[in-house]
Amino acid sequence: MNTPDIIAAVDAVRTAILANEQQIESLDRAIGDGDHFINVRRGCEAIAALKPELLPLTPAQAFTRIGTKLLSTIGGASGPLIGSFFIAMGRALEGVAEPDARHFARALAAGVEAIKSRGKADVGEKTMLDVLIPASLLLLRLVEEDSDRHTLCARLKAEAESNMLATRDMVATKGRAHFLGERALGHIDPGAKTSQVALFAVCDLITVGAAS
Ligand code: ADP
Ligand code: MG
Repeated sequence: MNTPDIIAAVDAVRTAILANEQQIESLDRAIGDGDHFINVRRGCEAIAALKPELLPLTPAQAFTRIGTKLLSTIGGASGPLIGSFFIAMGRALEGVAEPDARHFARALAAGVEAIKSRGKADVGEKTMLDVLIPASLLLLRLVEEDSDRHTLCARLKAEAESNMLATRDMVATKGRAHFLGERALGHIDPGAKTSQVALFAVCDLITVGAAS
């Protein structure tokens, strides 16, 4: 993985988020305050504008720059959470010129850990972490098993999809939705949906045209 790969991945995520505007928007309207899509789109646009600045950077520097930019651009609860995710990924990759799958899996785990500690949340609380934590743990396991990239991406996507759907049956104990109590039941968490969409986009990018 190099910096152009990171730029291609954030581009793919942006396209996928824009394509899912209606669903993401309506989920946060149902159990939040309706701004989640706007927040995430603002973040995607800010990173897109950053591309020329990112290109000469190492992967660690690129993730850190993306994180600091997102901290200052996205509002709401998700801004600081997503910003600290990228900053922690950057820190985890410091000194690694061309990260491999293992480096990336460990960096992703560090990013997810940063969201956990910043948001003081864990699995089962109806947030983005319900998708991100199990996906990160599964990725660590699959790279240790030397899983080929098609199997790895297919398993990650299946895991993300079922965990995103499972937030529908959860009562929120973090974020705005927790004020709704049982009224949040029956609605997927918007952050979990965004995380699943982003993960699908990166997996699809990785598997397109890959022979192994
Ligand atoms: P806000 O809730 O401030 O309007 P957004 O609408 O952008 O911010 O983001 C809402 C999403 O943020 C939720 O759907 C949830 O996934 C996530 N979220 C909220 N609080 C937390 C938390 N403490 N830890 C992890 N994720 C959280
Ligand atoms: Mg909101």
